[in-house]
Amino acid sequence: MAVAFLSHPHCLLHNMGDDHPEHPSRLGAIEDELHVRGLYDLLLHRDAPRASIEHLVRVHPLRYVEGLANRSPAAGLAHIDPDTWMCPDTFEAALRAAGANVLATDLVLTGVARRAFCNVRPPGHHAERTTAMGFCFFNNVAVAARHALDHYGLERVAILDFDVHLGNGTEDVFRDDPRVLLCSSYQYPLWPNLDPPTVPGRIVNCALPPGSGSDAFRKAVEERWITALDAFRPQLLLISAGFDAHVADEMANLRLTTADYGWVTEVACMLADRHAHGRIVSTLEGGYDLRALAASAATHIERLLLA
Ligand SMILES: [Zn+2]
Repeated sequence: MAVAFLSHPHCLLHNMGDDHPEHPSRLGAIEDELHVRGLYDLLLHRDAPRASIEHLVRVHPLRYVEGLANRSPAAGLAHIDPDTWMCPDTFEAALRAAGANVLATDLVLTGVARRAFCNVRPPGHHAERTTAMGFCFFNNVAVAARHALDHYGLERVAILDFDVHLGNGTEDVFRDDPRVLLCSSYQYPLWPNLDPPTVPGRIVNCALPPGSGSDAFRKAVEERWITALDAFRPQLLLISAGFDAHVADEMANLRLTTADYGWVTEVACMLADRHAHGRIVSTLEGGYDLRALAASAATHIERLLLA
């Protein structure tokens, strides 16, 4: 069955400045690498729709969504936090990024596709219910999870987050929702400088000290994620796919390799096949070294394409 690939031209128009690491060229780098590897034409391509208010308010209060729309500048950049800015196209791009996750969930849960990857920006996992931060505006993966739970009536959804930064926003959204298991690995100490406790059966937080590489990452996944996921038996796997733990990425100090992203994707596929009819929706989070990002994301997608 197909693997869907969702994006939208508007995701390239969100621009926080040419010196900003969360740059539009990230998406094209991934697409170029998919072409080089002969993978691009194997994917089921869909333009991302806008997320509707109904989709967004499952995660964010209406006053937050309206407040963000009101902060959208007519020209120039509007300051959101020390690293996060809105340009005139940001709000539309954020709607498309969240909407990609909604459509990807639709495609996977209706059997049109087995797995999906959302090649979108702005990313989402730092966006809390009422706070945009860390390059994020709407929590895309959370919108997908709530769509699966509230629209399709799923009872158990797992979110895997291997971005080098803690997905504080996703944890903020699901801290009190027993329908979601959140498994994370991240560098600590590192922005946002939080290392929240693990909650058995609900939140599995694997903090890795600076300098950690493949062995520490794989050990955390094997010993902590897999056990929790087998016990939880998710009906759908969502992935916050950040690739900034790569050794070549200067945003942080972990030392993962491109092969590690293939390996963790293989683990996710195995668990999805075991519990969730193979269903995976993955969405791009971080990853700022363009060559490492392209190679890692293409390897991730290549593994999603294997039956
Ligand atoms: Zn990150």
